[in-house]
Amino acid sequence: MSELHKFIFEGMPVRGMLVRLTDAWQDILTRRAANTQTGPYPAPVRQLLGEMAAAGVLMQGNIKFNGALILQIFGDGPVKVGVVEVQPDFSLRATCTQVGEVAEGATLSQMVNLHNQGRCAITLDPKDRMPGQQPYQGVVPLFGDQGEKLENLSEVLEHYMLQSEQLDTVLVLAADDKVASGLLIQRLPVEGEGNLAGKSDSVAREAVLGESEDFSRIAILAKSLKREELLALDAETILHRLFWEEPLARFEPLLGEAGPRFACSCSRERVGQMIRSLGTTEVESILAEQGQVEVGCDFCGAQYRFDPVDAAGLFTAAVNTPDTDGSVH
Ligand SMILES: [Zn+2]
Repeated sequence: MSELHKFIFEGMPVRGMLVRLTDAWQDILTRRAANTQTGPYPAPVRQLLGEMAAAGVLMQGNIKFNGALILQIFGDGPVKVGVVEVQPDFSLRATCTQVGEVAEGATLSQMVNLHNQGRCAITLDPKDRMPGQQPYQGVVPLFGDQGEKLENLSEVLEHYMLQSEQLDTVLVLAADDKVASGLLIQRLPVEGEGNLAGKSDSVAREAVLGESEDFSRIAILAKSLKREELLALDAETILHRLFWEEPLARFEPLLGEAGPRFACSCSRERVGQMIRSLGTTEVESILAEQGQVEVGCDFCGAQYRFDPVDAAGLFTAAVNTPDTDGSVH
């Protein structure tokens, strides 16, 4: 079962989260693998999308916001788009569009940042968006301060957090064919910290410095976590191994219906309605050409197939069910 663990370090301005996507991640991979037009993800793409999924859950868990968090990568290599959407209730879906060959062992830049033109976008789309209101979007490049190509998604997102929220963040991400997992450690802003920095109040300054040291120490512990450990170990073991000397206070883990899980609004019925809206002539010509109507969901990679009998059924059913758009069948 997929799970999200939130925790704080008592008396220190540091918080953290650990996510392990198991069934939710396998649901995403299974849908893709069953799609005969795309086939399964090559291992490097799987790792990228899995890390995006874990990061998306961590970022959604990190904000107080009633809306979807959408994490996207727009690549200039064989992988064109990777997208993960996480709702406030942690239901999520994810997909990747690949147009060229991805070599075994391909790096992040070989997949999405060949010419240093790749970018990563984080969008917050409010649930009750007012007419004309734009969702908030932040975009960061896939290179570092010196223009060097970044090879870890975690570094790209750490940059984003620092730029957009001015928050020091450490991210460790990993994914394979079973698990997509991530650890986030973040330094919380201290009230009035900016003002204190300019003053000679040595006690207050020392307090801020001390708190910063706490973060540095915890950050070093977090960074010592290896990808293999993140994938293989359960949450209890990871948190204990890393932070057993720290005053860790944990919240009730979010799992099952309250935790991260796969969900996509696509369904065979919706796709059927879409096919019906094409009209009989168009559908008959597709059937004549391809023998069946195949529709893939752009958001989760699921594939829906309607053979001539299924397709005919759509139009027969439509005669008995008045259509909402009032179109003629
Ligand atoms: Zn879908």
